[in-house]
Amino acid sequence: MCLFCKIINGEIPSNKELEDDNFLAFHDINPKAPVHILVIPKKHIESFNDVNAKTMASATPFIQKLVKKLNIDKSGYRVITNIGDNGGQEVKHLHFHVLGGSKLKWGHFTDSDPKGSF
Ligand code: 5GP
Ligand code: ZN
Repeated sequence: MCLFCKIINGEIPSNKELEDDNFLAFHDINPKAPVHILVIPKKHIESFNDVNAKTMASATPFIQKLVKKLNIDKSGYRVITNIGDNGGQEVKHLHFHVLGGSKLKWGHFTDSDPKGSF
């Protein structure tokens, strides 16, 4: 069973922020912003490559409710999902990073010079 499935079944403890029938939101153990929450489907889905439209549709109101609860909806935030090796996905259970609480930086996504690719 994967790490996030163990968090869902309570085998590994987590600091939960919001939960419904289909999703769980909990604080990232190694926060990269003042607010850093992980949103995961309760059903094991490996990555964004495998998620269906229905699950994505239900993720939307869940994340909107979460950011209101965290009071970052007006100040702004970022939703990211990493996919596969190049995307930097370490845990192979779909998750959305919700980052906020201060002005987030943008860029430095690759070690190679992007201009060299055009
Ligand atoms: P990824 O790199 O796969 O997109 O993100 C995985 C995230 O899971 C990382 O930000 C990492 O800090 C977080 N993480 C890894 N293990 C645990 C854990 O046991 N508990 C919590 N709350 N977060 C974790
Ligand atoms: Zn899993």
